[in-house]
Amino acid sequence: MGRAVHGEGARIVFRPPDLTFFVTARTDVPHVLRLDSGRPGPRVGLVALVHGNEPAGARALGRLLELGVRPVRGALVLILAHPEAAARGVRFLERDLNRVWDRLDEPADGPELRRARRLRPLLAELDVVLDLHTSRVATPPFLLTGPTDKAAALARVLATPPIVVRDHGHAAGRRLIDWGPFADPARPETALLLEAGRHDDPASVDAALSCILALLRHLAMLDAETASWLPPPRPRPVSVLEVTRTVTVDRGPFVFARGIRHFALLPAAGTLVARDGPRPVRTPHDDCVVILPAHRPRPGRTAMRLARLVEGPLPAATEVTVTPAQTKGRSAR
Ligand SMILES: [Zn+2]
Repeated sequence: MGRAVHGEGARIVFRPPDLTFFVTARTDVPHVLRLDSGRPGPRVGLVALVHGNEPAGARALGRLLELGVRPVRGALVLILAHPEAAARGVRFLERDLNRVWDRLDEPADGPELRRARRLRPLLAELDVVLDLHTSRVATPPFLLTGPTDKAAALARVLATPPIVVRDHGHAAGRRLIDWGPFADPARPETALLLEAGRHDDPASVDAALSCILALLRHLAMLDAETASWLPPPRPRPVSVLEVTRTVTVDRGPFVFARGIRHFALLPAAGTLVARDGPRPVRTPHDDCVVILPAHRPRPGRTAMRLARLVEGPLPAATEVTVTPAQTKGRSAR
């Protein structure tokens, strides 16, 4: 059963992922599955459905289980972060679960804060976390690292996918990958966020699974047979982009300039990229790369990131996103 969401030239059909393998799992936290090798080693969290309308990550976890992948050392913890939102096919119920991780000790309540607080002790036991997302914009898969060098180093060595974006999160609130020990450069715990592709593209599931397997191989957690399925690791050019400015919507309405595309390269500093109400938004430097222009930019939220390519080839630019005037309907928030 799918639910159609209309965007510019694209019709995205949301099909809820099959969550039965989690519902039947015996665990102390609902929708969390632990696969413990019984041997010492890294404790790795694979997180899906932080955004309920992004089922590809959950499908990748389902495939991982169907393939019979089990850790040969350490432990794997599979986490469906927001199954309630997923059941309704919405990004969140009250607030974005990927913007609350600096607010867990505030008195506020709600379904997202309750779930985040429930997951927190479990996340605190993990050494490495891979948080699986998809996007409304068509995009080649890429890894978001946050600001730490340890996350960027892990993303580079995985090189699966071979595009790495170093960024600084969002003004609207802290992401899971920027929470606690993951954001602390003095601690070894590391978290990455995969943008696996467009929400409804089957290739996004493949991209998520490839990234998971590359991570598990890197951590020597796969048995020899599973590792043999994978192409041998080989050096390949990795594109590294460093976000130089996170553009947050001030007053709005926020309208992108013509031709602003995801991964578009704007050669000249001062190029108009958008208008935020009466205020023009311009590129702060030469050779500025636009990253994930928002589907529906709203005051206080990230409209896009602007970045500098610091290494490797420029990823191919993809389809322009939609502007506020073109988007109506509550399902696509
Ligand atoms: Zn997401």
